[in-house]
Amino acid sequence: MGWTTRFGKKRDMPGGLWLKCEACGQIVFRKEVESRMRVCPNCNFHFTIGSKQRLDITLDPGSFQEIAPDLETRDPLGFTDKIPYLEKIRQTREKVGVSEAAVAGSGRIKGVPVVVVVLEFGFLGGSMGEVVGERVARAVETAGEKRVPALLFTSSGGARMHEGVISLMQMAKTCAALERFSREGGFSISVLTHPTTGGVTASFASVTDVVLAEPGALIGFAGPRVIQQTIKQDLPKGFQRSEFLLEKGQLDGMVTREKMRDDLARLLSYAV
Ligand SMILES: [Zn+2]
Repeated sequence: MGWTTRFGKKRDMPGGLWLKCEACGQIVFRKEVESRMRVCPNCNFHFTIGSKQRLDITLDPGSFQEIAPDLETRDPLGFTDKIPYLEKIRQTREKVGVSEAAVAGSGRIKGVPVVVVVLEFGFLGGSMGEVVGERVARAVETAGEKRVPALLFTSSGGARMHEGVISLMQMAKTCAALERFSREGGFSISVLTHPTTGGVTASFASVTDVVLAEPGALIGFAGPRVIQQTIKQDLPKGFQRSEFLLEKGQLDGMVTREKMRDDLARLLSYAV
């Protein structure tokens, strides 16, 4: 295409006026995508959105009160790749404008009280380390104390390798918190958004009372390439997309971003 040679790399396009949809491959007008809450006007693909925008489009204005904002990321392994892990965290905080890959808080949706956690994919791929796991667990515990439902939005590459086995431990911790919450009569919903994979899919995202997803979201444990190479078989069409998982019974429902607030308010209101 002409414009690729003219502007070099695609991301160098002036002001990022245009965007290539990763689902349908169409070049779409960025402003139009933004005005539709980052949904492709051509194929309805729901692009990944940041935690701030997710809270903005989900909660009643001004209702959000953050839970456990002061947790500090630790470096149990003394991990360094190109730069030391904690330096990477510092730079990522500056770049993304959030303190870690999950934000938690209480709020309201159409007046219905809720505790919500949103994973931030822009922060090291939404990976779950100690702070993410702790925020999920504390949010669920707060929901239990307040006797309100818990709502979890996920987008994640899985456990955070930089924190080794401490990351994997978060899978058990978050599931244990949800189990206690459920036993005490709590009601929980997770909304799996593009992409939700690895240790997050394999833990808290899949054990809530209701598991919903946005259209077209990639949801799985291992990626399709790894599975294909392991089983040496072609994978079915639409494998690991939310439509496929809904058909197979892995999801309870699919909700578009446009109807999300209405549908969540209705579901949550059954529980309060
Ligand atoms: Zn599209």
